[in-house]
Amino acid sequence: MSDKELNGVNVAKFGGTSVANFAAMSNCAKIIKNNPATRVVVVSASAGVTNLLVDIANTAMSKEQIKQKLAEIEAIQHSILTDLGSPADVSDKLYQLLSSLSDLALHEEIIHRADLKDALLSHGERMSSLLFSQVLKQIDVNAENFDVRNVLKTDSQFGKATPNLAAIKAAAANLMLPSLENTVFVTQGFIGSDEQGETTTLGRGGSDFTAALLAEALEAQTCEIWTDVIGVYTTDPRITAAARPLPELSFEEAAEMATFGAKVLHPATMEPALRQNIKVFVGSSREPEKGGTWIVKDCETQPAYRAITRRKEQVMVTVKTPKMMYAQGFLQRVFTIIAKHKLSVDLVTTSEISVAFTLDNPANSVTEQLNKATLDELSEFCDVKVEDNYDLVTVVGNNMHSEAGVSNRIFNAVAEHNLRMICYGANPHNLSLLVKDSASAEVVCALHKALFE
Ligand code: ADP
Ligand code: ASP
Ligand code: MG
Repeated sequence: MSDKELNGVNVAKFGGTSVANFAAMSNCAKIIKNNPATRVVVVSASAGVTNLLVDIANTAMSKEQIKQKLAEIEAIQHSILTDLGSPADVSDKLYQLLSSLSDLALHEEIIHRADLKDALLSHGERMSSLLFSQVLKQIDVNAENFDVRNVLKTDSQFGKATPNLAAIKAAAANLMLPSLENTVFVTQGFIGSDEQGETTTLGRGGSDFTAALLAEALEAQTCEIWTDVIGVYTTDPRITAAARPLPELSFEEAAEMATFGAKVLHPATMEPALRQNIKVFVGSSREPEKGGTWIVKDCETQPAYRAITRRKEQVMVTVKTPKMMYAQGFLQRVFTIIAKHKLSVDLVTTSEISVAFTLDNPANSVTEQLNKATLDELSEFCDVKVEDNYDLVTVVGNNMHSEAGVSNRIFNAVAEHNLRMICYGANPHNLSLLVKDSASAEVVCALHKALFE
């Protein structure tokens, strides 16, 4: 295919609710058929499946409990199979996948080995893509169920692998490009493979990232993220009914929103889009006629306030040492220890003798790690305080640091609330407030009212 022809390619990604059952898959199939530019389809696991797989991978369970979870997964997939016009075409492959899934789930080492966990998790996307390719074939789309692991090359960091962009580009050119004109590749989000060919995963919600990576590798013009909302909203519509969809967003705004908790996009999604200037669309597969949000390089507007996000499960660490008064190297010493323990710091504030920072703490994973090793080392030269049950509320916008009255408006709106930490000024696109998790929804609503209603 020539570069010119490739300019029209669209990569479409369908999230878990969009491929939850046969009816949802049929809506997606129509969307694909209506846009001949769609040559690559990336799917998530059917809604609920990855959560069940994560339970099996991370929780010590009896064989009976594991079998119960497997039965739930099988029921989800089986109901789609039985709704197919010609289930026989894929039933053997589906049962093979269910069987290898069951072997892994019942493996004695499953909760201890990250490589086995990723192999287990990959089954969700592998089953949904198999079934969805058949749904497309039934409406005469020339669909091929394609194993993304042959293209989506990563390092060996199981659970949160880093993609190898050059290898992805080369493999996509070899294996996908030659038949892109005549085939709709139906492939898996979220999973990849390392140099040894072992299955890896990109982290929860990673299918958006897969779609953007494939769009970049294939030099696609657009990447569509089809989900359960009609675009990116001013804030999570589950927090307030006053949230409204945004017609357009810039790459930077979308990246900020995703980083600071807007689950609608995986945080890394915008990186490939930015590098390759690929327009990203977000819309609802249930209501495609309602349109959605276009995420582009240059937006028509650059409002000071674009959206409010919330990132849950934050922990705040305060490190204090009176001994370091007027001394140099305190921050370096603290952050060397943090880096050594592979903890990723988000927000930081400092004073002469102390530094406070926040870390993501999903399912208390970080608090555990902090307690075990890092705290001991930090405690050798300073007092350490760890506080959890915080959420981070972020106002995302443009030129916030140079706009008069921004902080006034924001702080007036949340005057009743206790703000544990404030970060403002390092980046023109955001202002972040750390608040108790019990208050975060109220803080989001108050800010939304003051800034958007
Ligand atoms: P999918 O399974 O399709 O990937 P996700 O559940 O990952 O879907 O993302 C969609 C959800 O993201 C929405 O249902 C919504 O609750 C949540 N969300 C959070 N912030 C926003 C936002 N600013 N705009 C739209 N949706 C948001
Ligand atoms: N199925 C994976 C998850 O639930 C990836 C995704 O849906 O994006 O996290
Ligand atoms: Mg998602």
